[in-house]
Amino acid sequence: MNNAGMRVHNFSAGPAMLPVEVLEQAQTELLDWGGSGMSVMEVSHRGKAFVACAAQTEASLREVMGISDDYACLFLQGGALGQFAAAPLNLSVAGDTIAFLNTGDWSKKAIAEARKYADVAVLADTADSSFTTLPQPGSYEVPADAAYLHYTPNETIRGVEFQAVPQAGAVPVVADMSSTILSRPVDVDAHGVIYAGAQKNMGPSGLVVVVVRRDLLGRARPETPTVWDWTVQAGADSMINTPPTFSLYLLGLVLDWVKGNGGLAGMAERNKAKAALLYSFIDASPFYSNPVDPAYRSWMNVPFLMASPDLDKQFVAEAAAAGLTNLGGHRSVGGMRASIYNAMPLEGVQALVDFMKEFERTHG
Ligand SMILES: *Cc1c(COP(=O)(O)O)cnc(C)c1O
Repeated sequence: MNNAGMRVHNFSAGPAMLPVEVLEQAQTELLDWGGSGMSVMEVSHRGKAFVACAAQTEASLREVMGISDDYACLFLQGGALGQFAAAPLNLSVAGDTIAFLNTGDWSKKAIAEARKYADVAVLADTADSSFTTLPQPGSYEVPADAAYLHYTPNETIRGVEFQAVPQAGAVPVVADMSSTILSRPVDVDAHGVIYAGAQKNMGPSGLVVVVVRRDLLGRARPETPTVWDWTVQAGADSMINTPPTFSLYLLGLVLDWVKGNGGLAGMAERNKAKAALLYSFIDASPFYSNPVDPAYRSWMNVPFLMASPDLDKQFVAEAAAAGLTNLGGHRSVGGMRASIYNAMPLEGVQALVDFMKEFERTHG
């Protein structure tokens, strides 16, 4: 057990760890936010102070990600899963075909949800490889009449990550960026829509960010739930009802932290170094392995296996006792997984590698 008050190295896939500076600032401001005598959770979302806070969060997101005025930024609820339904409802009519790249568990869920609303064409599917690789660019063709092409830039469970945005010609590209947003520079203009649940790299759960090119607004089906109607929300600063105020505030603090640490280029440098440290250790060890095609290994989620899978439970328990928590693999795949999002420092990954070495020495 850890001493009370001691922070652990938290490798959770989500909700994930947050930068300690951000938590400390939130703590400092918790009882009296900006001289209001209230916490940010207790003020009206229509009040001047909170409206300014939300506007600042949006301005920071635009600055950090390089989002132009051609795009609307929406701050909604219902998570990424809600957007699995909102995307078809906002971008297609019944009978349309939506194109998908099926590259893992999250793509699969997005496909299942889209099938409720439209026809689905799966252009490429890496299930045969147990989702350990990605489709080669040029190995599939996007039908010109597809409503949009949906892909998952980073598959959180298997740990595969696209290194380039898929080409789709004039067909809008829609990305579920939940587990990689803010981790490296992104070509926003290559996308029609980017959406992401906040709880991996952006802040607490309860918030989903949707970045949508304005020329794609105005197409929602009449039956679209109003809270997920991108056009309505874009016209109301995402405040047709009460937004997740604390999550929005905290996203603002996280974006300030990203800015103070070199922006997305700085995040990429940190994340690349962390991933390289862990993968190079795994590759050099006869005891540990990572099944993913090295060309597409995720910088954010690193699944790994041991030569003796019967030791998995012991590994996870001993790691937790050593202050390295949430290292169990997703229940659908087993093994271990280290999620090393933006907030995980290099020292955390080094501590994991040191623990893995010692575990191999004593149990290998
Ligand atoms: C976590 C995750 C989701 C689910 O997000 P919710 O906000 O819980 O709905 C969807 N897609 C990806 C890629 C994820 O990592």
